[in-house]
Amino acid sequence: MVFELNEIKTREKGLSLINHKITNYGMNSLIDLTGLAGGFDITSEDITMLETYAGPAVFDEKIQQLGKEHLGGEKILPLNRTTSGIAAMIIALVKPGTKIVHYLPEKPGHPSIPRTAELIGAEYVEYSNLDEFTIDDNTSLVVITGTTMDYEIISIEDFEYVINKAHEKDITVFVDDASGARLRRAIYDQPTAIDLGADLSVTSTDKLMEGPRGGLMAGSAKLIDEIKLVVNQYGWEAQAPLVAGMIKGLEKYSPERIQEAFKQKDELYKMLISQGVDARKTPTGFMFKEEDIKNELEKRGMTIDLPTDLLATIYSMLLLSMYSIITIPAVGMPGASKTIRIDWSSKDSSKLSMDDLIFAIMDTFDHVIEVILEGEIEETLYLED
Ligand SMILES: *Cc1c(COP(=O)(O)O)cnc(C)c1O
Repeated sequence: MVFELNEIKTREKGLSLINHKITNYGMNSLIDLTGLAGGFDITSEDITMLETYAGPAVFDEKIQQLGKEHLGGEKILPLNRTTSGIAAMIIALVKPGTKIVHYLPEKPGHPSIPRTAELIGAEYVEYSNLDEFTIDDNTSLVVITGTTMDYEIISIEDFEYVINKAHEKDITVFVDDASGARLRRAIYDQPTAIDLGADLSVTSTDKLMEGPRGGLMAGSAKLIDEIKLVVNQYGWEAQAPLVAGMIKGLEKYSPERIQEAFKQKDELYKMLISQGVDARKTPTGFMFKEEDIKNELEKRGMTIDLPTDLLATIYSMLLLSMYSIITIPAVGMPGASKTIRIDWSSKDSSKLSMDDLIFAIMDTFDHVIEVILEGEIEETLYLED
């Protein structure tokens, strides 16, 4: 039997498991270690404001100020998602038939970039090696990812090199700094993308900060206005309630939790090694890529002929159903990375000890094997019809 992962259905299953746990055991029973826990800490005063015409005006002024402090730039554009900001930016700035060149520390880039390139009929190329990196003459946009979906961080030298190469040719540089706007800065003390010379940058307001899912773009007033027009035409702007939540997230943000996790991750890593498990370090925890999950299962004596994205999703789903630990593959949007990433800077890491976490990680490998041997893959991944 051939299994192909249906990501719409796995997400429905993941959300249903979460809902079931909340209903039966309360919100506190969940342990979200995605680093994307979000937050919507608005007050009743904010709500009163939202009910009047004053709301959007007041919130807009605040988000301009806080956004500029966080990202730099002259003007801030709050978005429904980072994805919608990326799409609008490409539609506004890239002409059909021209080329988008993307440099990132490790492929692939976020799917919103190639998808929008295809939509408007632009060419798209990714480089993760500066020796190969070239900007052809018909290039209309250079994209840099500051920190990838798997938390690979660009070095400041590479960052500046790519920006300079693009600007030598007068090409606009856009930085996808979804998590990088905090990770790069908190851990490596790097400047904002705009301060490094980029023309535009975008960040996700739920990544490594306690804000709602949304996007925040920064740049020159001229470029932001061009993009804002497209954003409004397609209905991709952040509505006032979202902006109110972003403001609280930005006000609360401090890099300390990220810095603390950066120190503690070595200990977690050692504990895994002592159990014979090969994880990869991330700046704030550890991760297993799809193929690592397969390797770990094979180490336990299994020969597996199943796609690695499927294995990683089963792993994530079982970690959720048995240990209430949330990782991205079980609940992510279609196309999201299938890496099992444990972000120890997540607020919820205080709900369990390092020993508890390592136990859950080990035990879940055994349960994946059981599910495969018992032929229970579909029940594990999908809701019953
Ligand atoms: C998360 C992420 C995005 C998209 O954010 P959404 O909130 O899903 O729209 C884009 N680029 C990178 C590098 C990301 O990590």
